[in-house]
Amino acid sequence: MQRLTGIGASPGVVAGRAVVLMQREQVLRYRVPAARVEKEIARINASRDLTRHQLAEIRNSVNQRHGADLASIFDAQLLMLDDRKLVQRAADMVRDQHVNAAWAVHRTFEELSGVFDDIADEYLRERKGDIADLAGRLKMNLRRGAATPRELMRELDEASVLIADELPPSIAAQIDWTKVRGFATDAGSRTYHTAILARSLGVPAVVGLQHATSVVQPGQAVAVDGDNGELILDPSEEIVTRARVHVDDGAPPPGAQGEAPGPAVTIDGLQLRLDANIEFPDDLAAARYAGAEGIGLYRSEFLLMGGVRSWGVATADEEEQYGIYRQMLEGMAPGPVTIRTFDMDKEGGGMRGLRLSLLKPDIFRRQLRALLRASRHGSLRILFPFVTDVQELQQARQLLKSAAAEVGLSDDDLAKVPVGAMIEVPAAAYTADLIAREANFLTIGTNDLIQYSLAVDRSDARVSQLYKPLHPAILRMVVMVRRAASRAKIPVSLCGEMASDPLVLALLVGLGLREFSMTPAAIPLARRLLQEMRSDDLRAVARRVFRMSTVEEIEAELERNIVVGQRG
Ligand code: PEP
Ligand code: MG
Repeated sequence: MQRLTGIGASPGVVAGRAVVLMQREQVLRYRVPAARVEKEIARINASRDLTRHQLAEIRNSVNQRHGADLASIFDAQLLMLDDRKLVQRAADMVRDQHVNAAWAVHRTFEELSGVFDDIADEYLRERKGDIADLAGRLKMNLRRGAATPRELMRELDEASVLIADELPPSIAAQIDWTKVRGFATDAGSRTYHTAILARSLGVPAVVGLQHATSVVQPGQAVAVDGDNGELILDPSEEIVTRARVHVDDGAPPPGAQGEAPGPAVTIDGLQLRLDANIEFPDDLAAARYAGAEGIGLYRSEFLLMGGVRSWGVATADEEEQYGIYRQMLEGMAPGPVTIRTFDMDKEGGGMRGLRLSLLKPDIFRRQLRALLRASRHGSLRILFPFVTDVQELQQARQLLKSAAAEVGLSDDDLAKVPVGAMIEVPAAAYTADLIAREANFLTIGTNDLIQYSLAVDRSDARVSQLYKPLHPAILRMVVMVRRAASRAKIPVSLCGEMASDPLVLALLVGLGLREFSMTPAAIPLARRLLQEMRSDDLRAVARRVFRMSTVEEIEAELERNIVVGQRG
């Protein structure tokens, strides 16, 4: 038994197996049961194959455009990819230590770059950049289809305790706290946002441990003692028993789910709509359980992810799609289901979303026909992703109209299906008034809006500290879109991750937004917190924030003025 001392941020004692999240590097480390080891290794191999394919394509195009000299950089990466010291070593690590694939790849590359640091030759030392590049690509490919820590954590089989370097509130708010019983972080103080959240959720937590993530092994038995501010490794039977009493004391499960659907209402009676973002039809149950009024965003491209995420592979046929859409509409009735057409990112570079659909009319038509046929079975809203200009939207509506004629849907019935545009590119935000004329609703996708406005790749851990939802540019664009929608008298919602951070959500309400869509797990907490707030207070805070010029000032203002989770 070993004790690490930190700050008790939320009371109670829980025990379980450790899962380690390196949030800064976006990599989760957990123990893989023996039966899953081969599957984990297969994921590494699949990532290597996809990486090889991508590198070969890049190599060929560089070769054509810029000549063999430059292309040789990618030859070198291709060679490294097949070097036994890399991918093979990561696979061995999974087999020997039973750690997950992403962690094994991460560690292998970390070890290797350490070796490069000690090389005297400057040219060779510089190759470290290539290694990091290759590692980044392998990790990115491993993450496909399991992009967020929440999704990764869904893979966990048993109740666990989360050990993280840091845990931003937006991530914490999305975690399924019935599976993750408590957490401990290297970072943080008692006023750490996430600590406040933990108290509100009734999840025991210790923060400010400084180096727990480097001491704790994945799968190790640990106990979080939030009463005494300790993280106990290999806890005694007595501590585990004490933890069990806490878990079984008849308290409602953390996260207070199983709620009745309906708007969240602030103290002074302002009604706010909380819908769910989902990726799989199975998530519908979680959305209902969380009390979502409807589905604000169904990312339909997940239907296409049969292994490699590309067009042509495993494209669901019309019948299959119709069945799935119909089932979702019936399952959520009478609540609306917003189905976003495929938002595939074919080869990066911006060829994605509606642009790509318009380039692939056969695939697009098949989806539109399936959607329109299903529309007879519930309350469907169709949402087009990545709209960049009005013309694209006009073209899409035209295709929708002809698909309706093909499946025998009358003009009247077609008019009952609201058609919306995602506003997630700065060009769309700046022309939201024009787009609003062609749409029945707008949905602000801040995940992409942030990355394209701040020029920060959302999937690249190296620039993650520059990814700032509270940047004044983002807040201004959100307000601009809200105004455009209200002038056009159409609804507008916001479905980016930022809405699942309760402080940010409160600000967005103050800025005038009334409809949100978020991951189901974040809904109960959002509802509870909004119910404790007054809309005029939020408006006053938002007015002050809107005049501020730095993210730091804005964050400080929110922390000072929006008090969350006092009841816990
Ligand atoms: C967004 O961009 O904010 C969004 C909700 O869509 P996605 O995360 O699927 O790109
Ligand atoms: Mg998006």
